[in-house]
Amino acid sequence: MTRFARAERLQKIPPYLFAELDRRIAAKRAAGVDVISLGVGDPDRPTPPHIVERLAREAARPEWHRYPSYVGAPEFRRAAARWLERNYGVQVDPDREVVALIGSKEGLAHLCWALVNPGDAVLVPDPGYPVYRTQAVFAGGEPVELPLRAERGFLPDLAAVPETVARRARLLFLNYPNNPTGATATAADFAEWVAFARRHGIAFAHDAAYVDLALDGGRAPIALQAPGAKDVTIEFFSLSKPYNMTGWRLGFAAGNAELVQALATVKENTDSGQFTALQMAGVEALENTPEAFLEEMRALYRRRLEKAAAALREAGFDARRPRATFYLWVPVPAGYTAEQVAERMLEEAGVVVSPGTAYGRHGAGYIRLSLTLPDERLDEALDRIRRLKF
Ligand SMILES: *Cc1c(COP(=O)(O)O)cnc(C)c1O
Repeated sequence: MTRFARAERLQKIPPYLFAELDRRIAAKRAAGVDVISLGVGDPDRPTPPHIVERLAREAARPEWHRYPSYVGAPEFRRAAARWLERNYGVQVDPDREVVALIGSKEGLAHLCWALVNPGDAVLVPDPGYPVYRTQAVFAGGEPVELPLRAERGFLPDLAAVPETVARRARLLFLNYPNNPTGATATAADFAEWVAFARRHGIAFAHDAAYVDLALDGGRAPIALQAPGAKDVTIEFFSLSKPYNMTGWRLGFAAGNAELVQALATVKENTDSGQFTALQMAGVEALENTPEAFLEEMRALYRRRLEKAAAALREAGFDARRPRATFYLWVPVPAGYTAEQVAERMLEEAGVVVSPGTAYGRHGAGYIRLSLTLPDERLDEALDRIRRLKF
């Protein structure tokens, strides 16, 4: 018997696919098994010291102990604008076209509340970061899947979206470099997607969480570089993945002023922004992180991905390292489902991997490994996987 029935919107989201896996992991650990998780994407390395020290200094300033600015500290918004100009030659007005976020997940979620009316179609990548879909549903919208298939390099086929769907679509979510597939997009891809959004009057929300983690050097292209992007685009940037700051909760959105301001209006009525001292540490991250630090992180993930791919090949998988991110997206061998592979890895090796279906039905037939754990733990996990023959 339940005293408190959940709201219908909560009943509409798919059952949490990791729940059963979580239960099994807890049981294994209770039984004394040394379980190693390659599940969640959460960098293991610490935040660089210059950022931590800046927070410590700023935290002592009494003026930051009061409510922050709703749209973000002007210093942080200006640093975000300068970062876009410096790295991409993209110009945005820090006052009208940038809003600080309590992590980009918060902004992606609230954007749905800012734009989606009941019955609106929301185009979401599948497989994809689950937030786009669940928040579209919460807002009463209808998520429409854009399948990401290997034969198209895990890029969406917007030409395949029926005219009737495009007409009632309000919002298009995409994410490159991509979680979970590790795929990257080119400037030409972004130009095509911006043109599609302009043609149909759809807002284009691009999730750029992994732009700094292009593994073959430098940064991946962004949507705001595309011609006419600012007419339709709001782009989400996160400090979490590049600077090892997932626990801090800081990001920003930039782009079309109407979209940025609509998001800011939802935020004004929902949260009161991020701690200003923490935003000042964000300024430090954006302005004063040596490129050598990012190069070192890219080299670290590249090495880990290469050795993980090699271990999986020994175990009978067709694994190749991606061009970006710290995820290995691997097709499962014939005769297995993703869930069966995840289960065998847990039961026989004590290693947790995500079944691709956790990211949508087009993730069927894949598993995702996140290589965000210390090398000695990763090596132990890979030794165990190597011995499993599929
Ligand atoms: C990690 C991740 C985010 C969330 O980042 P936060 O800024 O920590 O909220 C957003 N999108 C994708 C695709 C991610 O993998």
